[in-house]
Amino acid sequence: MADLRDEFDVVVIGSGAGGAPIAYELARAKRSVLVLEKGALLRTQDERGPGRLSDFKRDEMFNAGPERIITTPGMVNTGASFFTSHVEPDLNDEPHVFTNVDRPQDGSKITIEGYTAQVVGGGTQLYGAVSLRFAERDFKLKTANQGRQLKGDPGGDALKHVIDWPFDYDAIEPFYAKAEHLIGINGTVAGQIKKFSQDNYQTPLLPNPISEFARLGMQRLGLQTYRTPLAVITQKHEPSGRTAGDPKVGYVNRYGDPLGYKSNTWVSLLRPTIRDGHDLELRPNCVVTHLEASGRKISKVHYRDPSGNRRTVSGKLVIVACSAIESVRLLMLSAEEDPENFASLVRYRQDGCLLGRFFLTHAFGGAEVQIKGQRFDKSISLDSDYATDSCASEDFLDAHGLWAGGAIYNNTSDQCLPITMARTEGDTDLDFFWGGFIGAQDHTSEAALQWLNGAFGSRLSAAFMANQIPRFENRIELHPDVRDKWNRKCGHVIKNFHPHDEQVMNLFADVCRQIMVEGVPKYTELGSGSVYGNAVRIANHIMGGARFAPSRELGVLDPNCRVWDADNLYVTDGSFMPTSGGANPTLTIQANAFRVASHLLTI
Ligand SMILES: Cc1cc2nc3c(=O)[nH]c(=O)nc-3n(C[C@H](O)[C@H](O)[C@H](O)COP(=O)(O)OP(=O)(O)OC[C@H]3O[C@@H](n4cnc5c(N)ncnc54)[C@H](O)[C@@H]3O)c2cc1C
Repeated sequence: MADLRDEFDVVVIGSGAGGAPIAYELARAKRSVLVLEKGALLRTQDERGPGRLSDFKRDEMFNAGPERIITTPGMVNTGASFFTSHVEPDLNDEPHVFTNVDRPQDGSKITIEGYTAQVVGGGTQLYGAVSLRFAERDFKLKTANQGRQLKGDPGGDALKHVIDWPFDYDAIEPFYAKAEHLIGINGTVAGQIKKFSQDNYQTPLLPNPISEFARLGMQRLGLQTYRTPLAVITQKHEPSGRTAGDPKVGYVNRYGDPLGYKSNTWVSLLRPTIRDGHDLELRPNCVVTHLEASGRKISKVHYRDPSGNRRTVSGKLVIVACSAIESVRLLMLSAEEDPENFASLVRYRQDGCLLGRFFLTHAFGGAEVQIKGQRFDKSISLDSDYATDSCASEDFLDAHGLWAGGAIYNNTSDQCLPITMARTEGDTDLDFFWGGFIGAQDHTSEAALQWLNGAFGSRLSAAFMANQIPRFENRIELHPDVRDKWNRKCGHVIKNFHPHDEQVMNLFADVCRQIMVEGVPKYTELGSGSVYGNAVRIANHIMGGARFAPSRELGVLDPNCRVWDADNLYVTDGSFMPTSGGANPTLTIQANAFRVASHLLTI
C-alpha cells in the first residue's frame, strides 16, 4: 500500500447517487478521479465468474444476522435486540441517534434509520429503483404558494422556511434526460405531467395482472396513469454495456441485485468507466474521517484504509456525497478537528450557521388490500407498474389547500418469495416467523401456514410520496456522548413533522385507499395510513441538512453545490435539497450531480 497515489484532480467521497455521476463525467473528461467508499464492492454473479454466486449475502433481505443487543447507555431502547445486515452498520459500532424535536421528554433512541446502504453504489444497490422526476412546481414552492391559505396550519408558519430551488425545472430537465439515458430506466412518458425533451426510457415489462386493479382504481378516480419509471434494464443498455435478462422481482426490489439488471451506480456508471480505461480509481472499504483546510481550500482528505491505517489524499476538487446525514456529520467532524480553519468555511457554531438545518424526509404512506379469491404470480413483473401525478396538479392542491403535491404508485406488495413477504408483515421489517418465537402465537405452526396460504400472491397496495414542510428545528447534530467504533461522535437526528404534513398525509392516504376501493372488486384487510406521528420512522429518503440557496444567508451551498466560503468543496448527495420533492429523490440527486459535473467542467 506504500506507493498508493495520493494526488488527484478530483476526490469523490461516497459512490452512490450523488457521487458516481460526478466521477463518471469528470473521469471521461480526462480528469484523474479517486472515489473513496466506506463500504465493500459487492460483485454480481457475472463479475465473480461462471457458476459463482454474487457477493450479496442475502442477509440484507431479512436482517437475519446474529441477534445483538443495543449497549449504548442512557437510550430509551438500551438493552433491546436488533439485527444488522451486511450492508448496514452494526448499531453498536456506528448508530444514528433519534430524538423527536417536539417531544424531547420521550428520550432518544438508537436507530438504523437514515442509513441507506454502505456499499459501492450506496443506496442505489438496495433501492426500490422508483425513478420519478419531480414536478415543475416542486422547484418553486415558495413562489407557488405566495398569498395562498393552507389547511392544517394552525400556527400559520408552514411556509416560513420554504425557499425556491435556485433554478427551475427547465434548467434541470436536460440532466434528467441524461440520467435516464446513462443509468438505464424503463417507463413511459405519456401520462406524466412533467415536460420531457427526450424519451430515453426503455420499454417496461408487461404489467402484472394484479396491478390492473390499481390502474382501474386510478382511472375511476379520474387520475391519469403512466408506467412507473424503474431503474431496471429491460433491453440491451449500450451506455453501460449491460444485457437485459429476466429480472427476479424479489431480488431487484429493495435488495441487492446479484444479476446487475437493477441500474445501481456501480453497474451503470462506475464499472463501465473503469472498464473503458478512464483514470478513475475506486477504493472501497475506506472511510473518510475528516477534511483538512488551508485557507479557502480543502488541502487533505483523511481516511482509514481497509486495514484501519490512517491515510491522506488530496484533490483539486473535493466532492462530499456520503448521503444526507453522514455528509453533514463529516463536515461537522472536520470542523471539530480543525476549529480554526475548516470550521470557519462551514461557519460551524457561528451565528447564522445553517449546517445540519432543514433536514427532510418525505411525507409518505399508502393503503393495502388483500384480494379475495385470486392469487397472482408476482415473479413475472417488477414491483410497481402504474403511477399517477394527478395529485401534484394545481387543481388538486387548490381544492384541498395543500402547499405541495406528490406522486402515487402501486406496489404488487409481497414480492415473489414468501420469505420476503413474511419479513415485511405489518411493515415492521421484523421477521413474521420470528414473532412466533417471541410470544405471538398466532404466528406459529398451522396459523403461520394459513397466513402464508391466504396472503401470498394476493396483496396489492398504493403508496404515496409527498413533499414535507422544511422546519428550521429539524436538524442533524453530532451527538455529544454517543461515539462510533473509531471514537467519532455519531449523527443525531432531531426531527418531527409539521401539522400541515398531517393534512397532506391524511389526504394522500385517503386517495390511495380510494384507489383500492374503486379498483378491487373483492378485498379484505384494508389498511391505510401514513408515517405522521411515528417518531422514528424517517424512511429511506433522507435529504437536506446542507441546502443550496441563492444567497449565503439562506443556505450552506451555492447554486452549484459549492460550500459558500470554500473554493473547492462541493456536496452533491441528497443533503443539498431545500425541499424534498413530491417523489422518490434518487433520480433528482443523480440529475443534479450530472448538472454539477457539467459546471465543474467549465472551471
Ligand atoms: C430499501 C431502500 C429502498 C429505497 N427505494 C428507493 C426508490 O425506490 N427510489 C428512490 O428514489 N430512492 C429510494 N431509496 C433511497 C435511495 O437509496 C437514496 O435516495 C439515494 O441512495 C441517496 O443518494 P445519496 O447520494 O444521497 O447517498 P447514497 O446513495 O446512500 O451514497 C452514499 C455513499 O457514501 C458512503 N459513505 C458514507 N460515509 C462515508 C465516509 N465517511 N467515507 C466514505 N464513504 C462514505 C456510503 O457507504 C454510501 O455508499 C431507497 C433506499 C433504501 C435503503
